[in-house]
Amino acid sequence: MKQFLLNNLKNVFGWKAKRKIVVISVDDYGNVRLASKNAKQALDKAGLKVLSRFDAYDTLETKGDLEMLYEALTSVRDRNNKPAVFTPFALSCNINFEKMREEGYTRYIPELLTDTYNRLSLSDGNSYEGAWKLWKEGIKEGIMAPQFHGREHLNLKVFEEKLKLKDKELMACLEHNSYTSISNSGYKTISYTAAFEFDEFNENERFGQIIENGLDAFEKVYGYKSTHFNSPGGREHPVIHKYLREKGIKYIDTPWIKKEHLGKGKYKTIINYTGKKNHLNQIYLVRNVVFEPTHNRGINWVNYTLQQVEAAFLWNRPAIISSHRVNFCGHIDPKNREAGISALKTLLKKIVQKWPEVEFMAANELGELMASGK
Ligand SMILES: [Zn+2]
Repeated sequence: MKQFLLNNLKNVFGWKAKRKIVVISVDDYGNVRLASKNAKQALDKAGLKVLSRFDAYDTLETKGDLEMLYEALTSVRDRNNKPAVFTPFALSCNINFEKMREEGYTRYIPELLTDTYNRLSLSDGNSYEGAWKLWKEGIKEGIMAPQFHGREHLNLKVFEEKLKLKDKELMACLEHNSYTSISNSGYKTISYTAAFEFDEFNENERFGQIIENGLDAFEKVYGYKSTHFNSPGGREHPVIHKYLREKGIKYIDTPWIKKEHLGKGKYKTIINYTGKKNHLNQIYLVRNVVFEPTHNRGINWVNYTLQQVEAAFLWNRPAIISSHRVNFCGHIDPKNREAGISALKTLLKKIVQKWPEVEFMAANELGELMASGK
C-alpha cells in the first residue's frame, strides 16, 4: 500500500502526454571503477572492503557486456518499429593511471575514454579489444544515446587530499588501475565518487572548469555535443547550472525530492517534477521508475518496475526508468551480468506486450519534445 501511494505520488505533477513514452537512463557508462578480477583480488589482499555491489562488480563495459546489452535492446520493437534505447549517462575521462605512476603520484591526471579503451585493448584484449568500435556502432544504430555524467566520476578535492597524504586505500587502488572501496572521504558532506559535492560553498567555483573541460572531452569522445546532464554521484548545487548552460546543456536530471546542500552540512528540501524549468530555462527531468535488478532487495524487480511504469502511464506521464551500469557488468562475474540482462529482456518484453503503442525514446529526445511545447 505504501509503495502504491509512493508510485502514484511521484506522478502527481509534471509534463503530460497521452503517448506511452519509455526512457531508460543508465548511469556510470565510461567509468573505470574496478579494473579486473586480478585488481579485485589485489585490493582484497590489501584489506580494502567491498562496501557495495559497485565495489564488487562495477567495471568499464567490456565487448561482451555491450554485445549482450545490444542483444537485449534489439529483442523488442516499439510502435515505430524501433528497438529499445539506453541513455547512458557517461563519463568522458578517467584517471590516467600510467602517467600518474610515471610521475610518482604527484598530481591528478585525466585521460580521454578513447585512450583508456586503447590501453585496455592491449593489456586486457580478451575483454576490451573491439569494445570501443562496438560502442560507436551502438550510437550509430540509435540504441545507445550517451549524455553527460561529468568529466570523471570522482571528487577531485577528496582525491587530491588523499593523494597528498599517500592514503593507503587510494594508493592500493592506483597501483591496480582502479578507484573503488574507499571507506571514508574525510567529509560528511562529500562522497568520494561525487564529482560535484562540496563542503564549503565556494568549492563550486572550481566545477566550472571541470564542466567546460569535461563537455569538450565528451564531444571528442562520443562525436557530438551533449545536451543533457545527470550529476555523477550525489547532487550538484544549481549554482553550477550556469556552467552547463554555457556549454549547451538544456536538460538536467534531478531527484523528485532533492536535499539541496547549502554548504557545511546545511540542507534545503526541494520538490521537483519533469518539465519544471530553472532560472536559466533548463528543463528538469525526474526519473519516476527504478530498475536495479542486481540489487538484492527481496523483490521481483520486473514486476516492481512494471508497476511503476503503469503508475506513470496512469497519470499520462512518460516513464523515465533509472538504472546503473553495474546491473549489466560481467567482467568480474558473468553471473551478475546474466541476472541483469535477463531481467532487462523480460522487462522489455512485458512492456511491449502490455503497451504495444509504447515509444522508446532517448532522455534528450524527451527533453526536446518537452521544449518544443507539443
Ligand atoms: Zn554515477
